[in-house]
Amino acid sequence: MTQHGSGPAGWRAGTSFQEMWRDLLPVGRHPDSRGYRRFAWTGADAECRDWFREQAEARGLVHELDRNGNQWAWLGDPEAGDAVVTGSHLDSVPDGGAFDGPLGVVSSFAALDELLTRGARPTKPLAVVNFGDEEGARFGLACVGSRLTAGRLTAEQAHRLTDGDGVTLPQAMEAAGHDPDAIGADPERLARIGAFVELHVEQGRALDLSGDRVGVASAIWPHGRWRFDFRGEANHAGTTRLTDRRDPMLSYAETVLAARREAQLAGAVATFGKISVEPNGVNAIPSLVRGWLDSRAADQDTLDTVVAGVEKAARAYADAHGVDLDVVRESFTPVVEFDHALRDELARILGRDAELRVPVLGTGAGHDAGILSDRVPTAMLFVRNPTGVSHSPAEHAAEDDCLAGVSALADVLEGLACT
Ligand SMILES: [Zn+2]
Repeated sequence: MTQHGSGPAGWRAGTSFQEMWRDLLPVGRHPDSRGYRRFAWTGADAECRDWFREQAEARGLVHELDRNGNQWAWLGDPEAGDAVVTGSHLDSVPDGGAFDGPLGVVSSFAALDELLTRGARPTKPLAVVNFGDEEGARFGLACVGSRLTAGRLTAEQAHRLTDGDGVTLPQAMEAAGHDPDAIGADPERLARIGAFVELHVEQGRALDLSGDRVGVASAIWPHGRWRFDFRGEANHAGTTRLTDRRDPMLSYAETVLAARREAQLAGAVATFGKISVEPNGVNAIPSLVRGWLDSRAADQDTLDTVVAGVEKAARAYADAHGVDLDVVRESFTPVVEFDHALRDELARILGRDAELRVPVLGTGAGHDAGILSDRVPTAMLFVRNPTGVSHSPAEHAAEDDCLAGVSALADVLEGLACT
């Protein structure tokens, strides 16, 4: 179904939220797990990018792929400055859900249609963006597209990123038809943006517990990833006496439990969700167990306490088993306080709707909006997730709540760009 309505020159309404959602749903979905595998610069990623370009073109928006592989769909002159930008990402974690990322992109196109169909006339350029490689599922670093753009990841650093099969980021980009030598900071682009608003499915249950459909973000918790390398000695699983072993799996296993304990004590979160083992044989004692710790907390001191506690415990366990331990911090993002003026403006705009109560909440999840927040005024809207489950095929938001999110975003874009 195509919506009708007259709007700015060149623009025409696209398909509905529900139709866009249905179009995108099968892309990159694994038939067994039913989860999504939309990893950066793969075939599934390319299909998502094609979908984005088609949505832009169907609306008469100007599609642009920037030097870092982020996609933009412009209404109005990008060069005019003070643009109001909305969007999110389309890639996924391994076996991720349908909503994390795509809800923001689909809602952005739908919100644009809604506000223009209402008859609102933008006085500023508007854009929808799809940031590339947000989840970091393939190359181990989250928000590569926005980090590069913001100059928070250099081209040299990005060129060293390698996936689990030994493919480097430049090789993957090249295979997907993107020039890896073009990547790097893009301050001119950011200077043209007056506000960035990212809508995202909530990755927790705060809205469900408060009984609200939509919320505004206050801050993103500081968070990081640490790699723990436990090195022991490979040997025969049948003939090596227990007392003769230097088994790194044991110290790793104890460290996983320590992480849980430290996080619980501090009211934080800590997770070992990825592991690699060498030689990875059923009948071999491992020589190396490499585990990645992801930890987040409401403030820096708490996070430092948790990670220091986990590392201290890991060293004690490694010593006890004659195992060597290296801990490397692979990425870190400090606490992000969203722009207070923009946040207050969002609350004011959404406050006009007497039906909608919009609580302000913090989150433990990182987002492109957080990466950009010290370069551009940014804000986030969250849509209720009844179970709080995310990064899993069970991730869900009710259609009514998604549509309430679209309307809230349309209100925000109208308030920011049509005054
Ligand atoms: Zn996301």
